[in-house]
Amino acid sequence: MPELTASSLMEHHQAASTLVALLEGNGRFLAGEPRYKRDITAAREAAPGQTPSAAVFTCIDSRVTAESVFDCDFGQLLVVRTAGHVPDRAAVGSLEFAVAELGVALVVVLGHERCGAINAALHAVEDDAHDPRTDYLVEQLWQPASQAWSETKEPEEAASRAMRLQVRRTVADLGRRENLDGVLVVGAVYDLDTGRVTLIDEN
Ligand SMILES: [Zn+2]
Repeated sequence: MPELTASSLMEHHQAASTLVALLEGNGRFLAGEPRYKRDITAAREAAPGQTPSAAVFTCIDSRVTAESVFDCDFGQLLVVRTAGHVPDRAAVGSLEFAVAELGVALVVVLGHERCGAINAALHAVEDDAHDPRTDYLVEQLWQPASQAWSETKEPEEAASRAMRLQVRRTVADLGRRENLDGVLVVGAVYDLDTGRVTLIDEN
């Protein structure tokens, strides 16, 4: 979380309430009591226009489904995904669009355990291996992977650290973007095994 001063609390009041609502949605998901069916009726009701309350910037991993994890309906959540939530130009441009055109005031950067993109970067760091098919991603994720690998050689721990570093790095990157001024950007981690979302500073 950014430093919470009185003025930032005022500025982020709405975004903070939205964040609380998302975490409550995760609570419903965990309890197996989702509010939304996301069926064809809901899709048609949402069809005329969208007013998403938040954006989630997450990995492409097929096991991470933001609408389910936060128990949101059609039209409530704008989701941007790149492998390892690498904030490259099209991804950032999508978030800038969400803020400018749709009035989104909260961006949740959502990392997850056992991230394949992070693991590819870690393997490249570890073996000094080179695979042209993953070169772009490995390059983008080299810094957190090499930092984590320098801190621990235990593979699971290194992957977890690298992922958390990448979440913090992505939050910091978005925080520097002028077009995202005034937006609350928070980092969080999704636990594949439990389904729980935890804000990164609480980890
Ligand atoms: Zn991933």
